Amino acid sequence: MDPIINAVLEPKSIAIVGASADPEKIGYKVVANLIAGGYEGAIYPINPKSEEILGHKCYASVKDVPYVIDAAIITVPAKFVHGVTQECGEKGVKGISIITSGFSEVGEHELEEQVVKTAREFGMRIIGPNIIGVLSNSGKMNASFASQLPLNGTAGLISQSGALLIAMIAATYTRRVGFDKMLSIGNQSDLDFADLVTYLAEDDVTSCITLYIEGIKDGARFMEAARNCDKPIIALKAGTSEHGAAAAASHTGSLAGSSKVYEAAFKQVGVTQADDLNDLFDRTLALSLQPRMQGDNLLILTNGGGVGVLATDAAEKYGLPLKFAPPEVQAELKKHMPDFGSAKNPVDITGGAGLKGYYEGVKYSYAHPWVDGMAILYCETAVTNPLEIAEAIYKALQDSGTTGKPVTVSFVGGERCDTATAWLIEKGIPTYNAPDIAVKALATLRQDQLMSETTHSAPYKPTDINPEKAREIIAGARAKGRDALTEVEAKHVFAAYGLPVTPTELAKTEEEAIKLANEIGFPIVMKIVSPDILHKSDAGAVKVNIKNDDDVREAWKVIMENSLKYKADAEIDGMAVQEMAPWSTEVIVGSVNDATFGPTVMFGLGGIFVEVLKDVTFRVAPIDEDEALRMQNEIKSAQILHGARGESPRDMAKLASILAHYSYMIYDLKDEIAESDANPCLVYEEGKGVAVVDARIILTKK
Ligand code: ADP
Ligand code: MG
Repeated sequence: MDPIINAVLEPKSIAIVGASADPEKIGYKVVANLIAGGYEGAIYPINPKSEEILGHKCYASVKDVPYVIDAAIITVPAKFVHGVTQECGEKGVKGISIITSGFSEVGEHELEEQVVKTAREFGMRIIGPNIIGVLSNSGKMNASFASQLPLNGTAGLISQSGALLIAMIAATYTRRVGFDKMLSIGNQSDLDFADLVTYLAEDDVTSCITLYIEGIKDGARFMEAARNCDKPIIALKAGTSEHGAAAAASHTGSLAGSSKVYEAAFKQVGVTQADDLNDLFDRTLALSLQPRMQGDNLLILTNGGGVGVLATDAAEKYGLPLKFAPPEVQAELKKHMPDFGSAKNPVDITGGAGLKGYYEGVKYSYAHPWVDGMAILYCETAVTNPLEIAEAIYKALQDSGTTGKPVTVSFVGGERCDTATAWLIEKGIPTYNAPDIAVKALATLRQDQLMSETTHSAPYKPTDINPEKAREIIAGARAKGRDALTEVEAKHVFAAYGLPVTPTELAKTEEEAIKLANEIGFPIVMKIVSPDILHKSDAGAVKVNIKNDDDVREAWKVIMENSLKYKADAEIDGMAVQEMAPWSTEVIVGSVNDATFGPTVMFGLGGIFVEVLKDVTFRVAPIDEDEALRMQNEIKSAQILHGARGESPRDMAKLASILAHYSYMIYDLKDEIAESDANPCLVYEEGKGVAVVDARIILTKK
């Protein structure tokens, strides 16, 4: 644990610079909130014009305080913040929270940088500027201008929006989702998401980390922090700005866009992505209160067929399709329900089920080793009292002698159900007012387990590569003043990174083309090589299935004519002569250099799947072959690769190896490659490999 960061977030003594006796001022509210929250450390209001504020002796400057100050909370106007930072540094304050706004968020970058620079000189850390403050139930500390601490619990929130944080505090009481710490992150001038995730990961009280993100500053640092965190992380990512795709010239670029890349990064490091604010609360409740789900066997127990069916649908939708319970489980459960009940799964103990029915049913199933997790549903009836049912459920769970399995509950009904819901949540059981949400919450706990199993692999680096060769080719193109490689050059770069390109050479004359064609062996393919013609078939500048010398002459003539028709002053290097690969399933592999996360690899099927359906998926590079296989299985049209309509399955293993090599290439050459694609790659039957038949590399601006 970093002692300085700790001092800022869990200070034993706090100076409030800009403290005020005027109840309208933020400097007053912070002092008042610290007192009201029950803060047990020392409070030093700083204001040259006051003697005392809310019963605490006031000082003219932090430098006049004769005691140690762990953290200073700064509320003075932006133009004074730098001076105050300097004084804090001289006083030996460990870190500062800058509540004041008016910095980079309104374009005042220089002002912010000055403050950061000065803080660094003194070894101080900064949270903010432009924050609400820091709140902690366990620390009895409301060091913010939000008027109350959140409902007590074990989730930890890091929010980039101050206003949303205040609203969420209020909502914790109505939604009954408890938080210990809430951190307002503001402009992330110094401490950023990565630092605060690491802090909460090491914090004793926090069980689940909840993020509201607008923009991450350093994607790689964030990913490392999340990867190293053993606790569940859930994020709501707002904003789908296209800054990553703005300068996109290639196919991949137009399909990327930062929200897709965020999605990819979250997946890779095991962050659950929330759909919206309600979803964020729902899933946080489960992630903060329940253990992860170790297997896929979900058992649903219900007193109503309707909610049972809704829950069953949800189970399939959220990736935990129901299976019938084993016969011995069914036989045992049958004993605790009327004849017309169902012991399969969902287990329907019927509307007549009372306390005993719930108690026995829950106790037996929860303890059974086949069951990995349970969703218990209740529909309000005329003959049962919801609170009593809640008590019976809780007692059954306790008496089952089982721990470590997740359970969620749904109480559907009116006010009496709300009371029962609150009671169960108080006992640590995530309870919802709809059956599908209870199942979604459980599925989240399963998903989180699966992600935690896959996110810790070692960094990938292939051995069969020749980076010097690749850099030489790129340097050669740059020397000619080009910002894109020709297909021939790009294929040589790909080949240097172990990618199976179809053998391709440049012919400068028709005679050279004939010679190369005979060396490579017919049939061959010919394409124009011109820095001015990026999409060659659009220009009619690709000819396939060239069978003999005469065909080569004919192709040369036609391609030249078409190219000059397409662009009269096109600079032409010559013609690419290449082996013709037999046709097979076409896929696209590509890359962009994302502004936040850096080199990012894309995968999808070719043709309409990419053009029309945009059925593609992304990962931040580099990735290993396991991650590549997950990409391949993730696209909607994955079935085509597995062999749909009687086709034999494609070579998934070789494809995974190619994706991994490709990802390493763009990662290794990130200073050189801005965008790239291998479009198409032809994927053959299992064991028969892949052929990369086209290659494009766009260089970074230097
Ligand atoms: P561009 O994408 O610039 O239009 P490509 O090099 O991708 O040009 O060629 C267009 C199409 O021609 C490819 O999608 C592929 O179907 C086919 N093709 C290109 N090169 C080969 C090759 N070496 N072997 C087999 N088919 C090829
Ligand atoms: Mg192509």
